[in-house]
Amino acid sequence: MPASILFKRIGSEEVHGSKGFERTFGILKATCIKENSITFFDSQSKQKAEDNESPFSRAEAGEPVSCQFRVQTECRAMNCHIESALINTSVDEWLVLYITPNGNDFVDDNQENSAVVKHIAFNQLLTNFSSKLINANVNELDSIIDQALAAYGEFSDVDRCYLFEFSENIEYMSNTHEWVAAGVTPYIDDLQDMPTTSLPFFISHISNGLFKIDDVSTIPDVGSSEREVFQEQRICSILCVRIMVDETMYGFIGCDIIGSPYSWKAYDIEYLRRIGEMLGNTLQNIRNRKALQKMQLELLKANKQLEQLANIDGLTGIANRRLFDSTLQRDIKRCQKQGLALSLLLIDVDFFKQYNDHYGHVSGDKVLKKIAKTLSKSCLGNDDLVARYGGEEFAVILPGTDSDAVNAIASRILRNVMFLDIPHEYSTHNNKLTVSIGLISQTNDSLKAVYKQHRAQSASWLISQADEALYRAKNEGRNLIKS
Ligand code: GH3
Ligand code: MG
Ligand code: MG
Repeated sequence: MPASILFKRIGSEEVHGSKGFERTFGILKATCIKENSITFFDSQSKQKAEDNESPFSRAEAGEPVSCQFRVQTECRAMNCHIESALINTSVDEWLVLYITPNGNDFVDDNQENSAVVKHIAFNQLLTNFSSKLINANVNELDSIIDQALAAYGEFSDVDRCYLFEFSENIEYMSNTHEWVAAGVTPYIDDLQDMPTTSLPFFISHISNGLFKIDDVSTIPDVGSSEREVFQEQRICSILCVRIMVDETMYGFIGCDIIGSPYSWKAYDIEYLRRIGEMLGNTLQNIRNRKALQKMQLELLKANKQLEQLANIDGLTGIANRRLFDSTLQRDIKRCQKQGLALSLLLIDVDFFKQYNDHYGHVSGDKVLKKIAKTLSKSCLGNDDLVARYGGEEFAVILPGTDSDAVNAIASRILRNVMFLDIPHEYSTHNNKLTVSIGLISQTNDSLKAVYKQHRAQSASWLISQADEALYRAKNEGRNLIKS
């Protein structure tokens, strides 16, 4: 490859390019070109170099140049090392820029050393990103993919590098990540939800794993729509490899060269494939993790539901005996510690055996449901617990409720059950269904004394007291409250 050189007379705006420059940058005739048709970008900041920062201006100002620039002509852009020199002839003073592109085009495969160096550099890039991706959580993924595309794009000296994702059934494809070299137009926003039916030639190739075009103008007519799209974007060479996730085609990773054709080498394909595999593995990993998280959430939800079921009475939907027992234990401890009173009600349906015998078991069940509802409506404290204690017996724990308040609540319960107006032919109370209530109420002091004396048995002791009171209510005629 002949050297790539730009030179101009000091003070003139006309620049001349060598044959090597023409070939490198795909320019037909570079013997006389305008200085402003060549743009230099700072390779660090990626910004266009100001007029006084361009290598010509710097060299002209007496500051010899030896550094990296991205050089863009109307045909293509490339990262290059630029070295300046000043040459005096007897007639004129000339500025000369020696331009050495860093890109693939100029790696001579026969020079084993440079190929090995390139390979080592690629492996380092891959190792760096795979370790970042292994530890990435879902929120970091997008930014790491962006960084990986940028690193790969710069490494390969291409103009654009991107990741596409297919929708289900490969009906649409969307550009999810894109990197572009300085001075290259990004297209990501225009490439969303593109119907794949408009690109049959591309899809048939990428489905087999690879889409490799060295020179877009040679795409056969079956790919005329792809050819048009690429030419519109001034893409001359394009290389894409498929990405598989869960054994289906997830999308593809690809890169473009703008302006002049480039013949993709075996190592270009190999490198892009490996980047694609790395992204595919990461996406698979994230998908697996998401699936695991979803399963975990479902299990937690199911466990919660099971736990609730284990605490709920199947017939009435209120707390069952299991929840009652654990709540009473906990509330006794808590109330005596926090200086609160505690009251307990045991409620038993009167003459319920006769009710069942006369009206049937199904009607009996309905009555139990109605009573459960009425009890819940009658006890409105946040911490109150209404439970089915067993059979046709209910219990209510009233933490922080003293004797006066609990008597009022018990009276409300008797009244509300009467208001249900459930006929009961064998009841001694106006032939209506009633309940009897046994009540025990402890001030905080007495609760403390009970706890001190009975400890873990305190709940059983309170229940036995309420049960005795209930027994008295039954003996003394029913539809009564006794304490
Ligand atoms: P007392 O006024 O003395 O409480 O009389 P009782 O008939 O209510 O008392 P007893 O203990 O003799 O009978 C309770 C009845 O409650 C017997 C049983 O058939 C009925 N029972 C218990 N659980 C259920 C249930 O889940 N559904 C129905 N329908 N009846 C039940
Ligand atoms: Mg009973
Ligand atoms: Mg009963």
